Amino acid sequence: MLLTKKSSGLPGQAAHRPGTARFVQSLARGLSNALPTMDRRAFLRRSGLGIGVGLAATQLTLVRKARAAAPGEAGGNSKIEVKRTVCSHCSVGCAVDAVVENGVWVRQEAVFDSPINLGAHCAKGAALREHGHGEYRLRYPMKLVNGKYERISWDTALSEITERMLALRKESGPDSVYVIGSSKHNNEQAYLLRKWMSFWGSNNCDHQARICHSTTVAGVANTWGYGAMTNSYNDMQNSKCALYIGSNAAEAHPVSLLHMLHSKEKGCKMIVVDPRFTRTAAKADDYIRIRSGSDIPFLFGVLHHIFKNGWEDTQYINDRVYGMDKVKEEVLAKWTPDKVEEACGVNEATVLKVATMMSQNRPSTIVWCMGQTQHTTGNAIVRASCILQLALGNVGKSGGGTNIFRGHDNVQGATDVGPNPDSLPGYYGLAEGSWKHFAKAWGVDFDWIKGRYASPAMMGKPGITVSRWIDGVLEKNEFIDQDSNLRGVFYWGHAPNSQTRGLEMKRAMDKLDLLVVVDPYPSATAAMAAMPGKAEDLNPNRAVYLLPAATQFETSGSVTASNRSLQWREKVIEPLWESRSDHMIMQQFADRLGFGKELSKNFKMQQVKGMDEPMPEEILREINKTCWTIGYTGQSPERLKAHMRNMHLFDVKTLKSRGGKDKETGYDTAGDYFGLPWPCYGTPELKHPGSPNLYDTSKHVMEGGGNFRANFGVEREGKNLLAEDGSHSVGADITTGYPEFDHILMKKLGWWDELSEPEKAAAEGKNWKTDSSGGIIRVVMKNHGCHPFGNAKARAVVWNFPDAIPQHREPLYGIRPDLVAKYPTHDDKKAFWRLPTLYKTLQDKNIADKVHEKFPLILTSGRLVEYEGGGEETRSNPWLAELQQEMFIEINPKVAANKGIRNGERAWVSTPTGARLNVQALVTERVGPDTVFMPYHFSGRWQGADMLAYYPAGAHPVVRGEAANTGTTYGYDSVTMMQETKTTVCNVERA
Ligand code: SF4
Repeated sequence: MLLTKKSSGLPGQAAHRPGTARFVQSLARGLSNALPTMDRRAFLRRSGLGIGVGLAATQLTLVRKARAAAPGEAGGNSKIEVKRTVCSHCSVGCAVDAVVENGVWVRQEAVFDSPINLGAHCAKGAALREHGHGEYRLRYPMKLVNGKYERISWDTALSEITERMLALRKESGPDSVYVIGSSKHNNEQAYLLRKWMSFWGSNNCDHQARICHSTTVAGVANTWGYGAMTNSYNDMQNSKCALYIGSNAAEAHPVSLLHMLHSKEKGCKMIVVDPRFTRTAAKADDYIRIRSGSDIPFLFGVLHHIFKNGWEDTQYINDRVYGMDKVKEEVLAKWTPDKVEEACGVNEATVLKVATMMSQNRPSTIVWCMGQTQHTTGNAIVRASCILQLALGNVGKSGGGTNIFRGHDNVQGATDVGPNPDSLPGYYGLAEGSWKHFAKAWGVDFDWIKGRYASPAMMGKPGITVSRWIDGVLEKNEFIDQDSNLRGVFYWGHAPNSQTRGLEMKRAMDKLDLLVVVDPYPSATAAMAAMPGKAEDLNPNRAVYLLPAATQFETSGSVTASNRSLQWREKVIEPLWESRSDHMIMQQFADRLGFGKELSKNFKMQQVKGMDEPMPEEILREINKTCWTIGYTGQSPERLKAHMRNMHLFDVKTLKSRGGKDKETGYDTAGDYFGLPWPCYGTPELKHPGSPNLYDTSKHVMEGGGNFRANFGVEREGKNLLAEDGSHSVGADITTGYPEFDHILMKKLGWWDELSEPEKAAAEGKNWKTDSSGGIIRVVMKNHGCHPFGNAKARAVVWNFPDAIPQHREPLYGIRPDLVAKYPTHDDKKAFWRLPTLYKTLQDKNIADKVHEKFPLILTSGRLVEYEGGGEETRSNPWLAELQQEMFIEINPKVAANKGIRNGERAWVSTPTGARLNVQALVTERVGPDTVFMPYHFSGRWQGADMLAYYPAGAHPVVRGEAANTGTTYGYDSVTMMQETKTTVCNVERA
């Protein structure tokens, strides 16, 4: 960590209040006799997460305090309840027991029974109570009036906003409004928001997954079926070798490391490949530094040695992989050791060592995060990782797989069922058949939904992505593939400082007619919107509103961890101050916009603060009845709640229940995997146990087994795309490859009559994804041991992507023009996600302008253990704020010496956008001399100036700093519009 605790700091930073540090230290000292097990302490100490220990101690003090007032003890008539919830700060999914005394959340305890976190929390998880009861929260609706936020009533806010929305709809159509949803919404809220947007009549919605793992989702799904982590954090205990490339799990997913360190103790080799020597690297057997963005040369360099030495799994490739022969040919010819070293900077011996370790220690796994995904080539990088694992025969095996760590607590779930611009919940596309599937389930007429859209064509056209909404405002109208530019934007649980091109974003915010922030904290959006910009950009009619949303601790619902397990959060406290749950706010908007009845046709309402709120259980049941394609159908609220009450029944290494009935309901968890990791197929009554490791043929499909998905046809260029004979899941009646099931195949196989009459009626003319009875799935899986989505080969060659075989392409902004000639970027694209997108034009211009001479350092970014996402919530938490008080830049000592910058001094970071950021210098060899690193959690300072005055009074983050993304540059993935944040350029000077 950059800073030691200090008692003074920048003006206005409340973290520096005298005494706070002393308090934390004294509490930490009290820990030694307070923590109940050695295991947890050992974990925290070894993983370098000792900070969490101090915070855990703060909670333990509260434990003692509350116990003093328990019933039956002196002074105690209190009502004490324990509510089980899940940390909302990352996708690991650590369980928390919140102790509530007379409606006040007084303390928290880590859940030792949780098979995911085993009683461990990182600093953020240990400080959750302060998130719920946060004193810097937005307390009531506000409106920007003459540059200052003023309090208004909910009624006024809802009326004024909906009036504006309806006016925009009338003047410019429904696509003029853009809604940025949230990966912090629970599944029910995320799903409801996609439904809400559909009824508003636009696909212009998105959320954080676009800018964290959209390239993973697209790349991985197109390789073998589902775009998600194949195995689990827990399963890494079964790995013999783990390659972390583009993941700093020790800070981004701290408790996940618990499983890796257990594995390591049993001999698992750990390799970290990263441009920066991270805390994760500090735990590794081997650390290898690569140039940012050169993952493909490195991965294919490893693969080169595997092929050259015959270490690939030929039987597995023959049976289960399409196109590996073409990849092998290219990798052997193109990625020779000299080319690899030239492109990524790693010598032959080191690359060979990695190939040897991965090959000789199988099953070996690979872990990646945003280090791989956030590039203009992100879709190709993640596929190179998949190909490596397929070559080694590691996919579909315990201890192997691709362990892709998602970011936010529910980014997996929000991706699965939430507000995506190119799909309906469950990854159903925007084709008419999908819309009809949902219209039927939603109980509304398909033509009514169609009538809500600007046209049938717009109903089927993917919307603008969150990474590009600013271009939806700023781009010339004739270049946009929709009628109007964007005029209204909702930031609904999303930070603006997590998106690139901050200077242009400020301009876009000023040009809007309507900007609405819905968040428990006002977020950097509020301050950016209130801060004066250029006069010519400001729309004089602009209206800005802030609406206080409740946190996930003030409502209930399900959340999907990165390993695809769903957990049910109980409501801990009632919504504080005037905050309302997100789904209540959606309903209240819908009521005023004229589609309230349609939105909640299938839902019972519950009363919260005397107002109607759709019941989360009812929304989950609707998800269960619609999202067949990814198996979000078996996880009924009752099953999930039973799992939460009985965490102790589940094995840590397999996540499987050892058996045991839930005392409350009698539900028998035997055979279930914890959280029913999706796909959990069929109706809840089918009792599918969930799928702990995807594509695992060693298990029966009714025990969580599977195989690769048949999603890409049955034959290509004379080659079989279905799996070869004998490559089927255990117990399957069909012992060769087969396509997905529909009513025709069921009839051909003579299985149709195994459906009941009502099931036949529902399944007629349908496939397994649109059969609303679940009958096809039941018969195929239970009676015949087959997989409803067929049995096919994974694709090493994804022919429908810009680069069928992953190609290395240099970034648009780089410092190696010599390599651009060899590895140029794509050609420019027109009307790509409704917008023109620059590639080659910009790369060529940057070389012609000699940008690399003016900005000679690679700028990369990443996470810190203390903060999360845009950081507004965590930087508003006094406990966490104490731990990390300053935005900084890591600079190699050689560069620092050349620039005359000493450790701890201020530095100006300038970038090609014209941005200049004032940050503290951390002089360190963590980064090489060609690279600098900045964390991306900060905001609240803007090019050297404090933005405190622009926040609503009392609702500012405790720690404020320059946002890294104020200075980041243009650049987007060629499939998904993922932003490039991991490789851009800058210059650094002493301030
Ligand atoms: Fe666990 Fe992640 Fe929360 Fe830390 S932030 S306690 S690792 S869920």
